[in-house]
Amino acid sequence: MNHSRTESASRDSTPDEDVVTLAHGAGTGHTRSLVDDLVVTRFHDDESETAASPGAVELVALDDGSAHPVGDGDRAVVVTTDSHVVSPPVFPGGDIGRLAVAGTINDLAVMGATEVLSLTCSLVIEEGYPVAELESILDSMQATCDEADARITTGDTKVMPSGDLDGPVLNTTGVALVSREAVVRDAGASPGDAIIVSGTVGDHGIALLSAREGFDFGGPLESDVAPVNGLVRRALAAGRVTAMKDPTRGGLATTLNEMAQKADVGLELDEQAIPVDDTVASAGEVLGIEPLDVANEGKVVFTVAPDDAEAVCTAIREHPLGREAAVIGHATEDHAGRVVLDTGLGRRYLSEPEGQTLPRIC
Ligand code: MG
Repeated sequence: MNHSRTESASRDSTPDEDVVTLAHGAGTGHTRSLVDDLVVTRFHDDESETAASPGAVELVALDDGSAHPVGDGDRAVVVTTDSHVVSPPVFPGGDIGRLAVAGTINDLAVMGATEVLSLTCSLVIEEGYPVAELESILDSMQATCDEADARITTGDTKVMPSGDLDGPVLNTTGVALVSREAVVRDAGASPGDAIIVSGTVGDHGIALLSAREGFDFGGPLESDVAPVNGLVRRALAAGRVTAMKDPTRGGLATTLNEMAQKADVGLELDEQAIPVDDTVASAGEVLGIEPLDVANEGKVVFTVAPDDAEAVCTAIREHPLGREAAVIGHATEDHAGRVVLDTGLGRRYLSEPEGQTLPRIC
């Protein structure tokens, strides 16, 4: 692991005060600084009437989406949005269309909103882009919607002059209506809670980078991109989930550090229990990339009340996308805000990756 830390640090360009850098888009600390300093300070409304009400999740929470109590206050609208710039746009296991639909459905799902009311599709494409490729991306979007019982109901199309854009850009926004009590935040872990991951980690990032570098590792290496709302629905029905997040950009390491900081708990992991596909592990070694540091696009991290951990893990395993779900650790009072990795030989802090990591991963 130290190897990849050193390598990513040496690739790192120190973020400049005056310009945006690739590190600002990595989904880790630099991204959060940019969002905190420039976005939240401008758009957060201190006086918002709904901000303090149960079930409300505002911008300042920097959760996977926001939630707003409506009507008599027993229901909440959940909203999330995501732009996708993945390169190459077609990769082993998926394409930018599947990624754009699954990514937004998954951000809704980890807010507790597993029934999608509406999705938007906003396309930015370049003059000269083959219509057949566009059709293939749109077909993939519709097929992914069918899997998740979701519908695209509005959108926008812009075309840029030839040479102004390197590949399609897809933005999707998702809206759902849930009971207010159903909203799950990413900040709710308590000491004693079990940590569950819904399957193998690192698949998307490693598959994408291998495809980009043209490596063949002699085994199937495919992105895990998939809509997980059905899996999350099953988990929520099986026990008390205290926090959820999808470990996308920055991988499991970044997601768990965020969850630990927001809940002010320590998260202790048993490294041997974290599921990693054999081919992903060996490809990661060759590429100098740690599977815990790279994006997943069809996985969920849960913290679960200790008495319910076994029931929730079993329920997830019964779902086709959760067969390799595992309890990988637990939350503690010690090491508040940190993630501790027990490697079997010793214990150390698991920090999030730094620098630009892998640009255009999602
Ligand atoms: Mg998310």
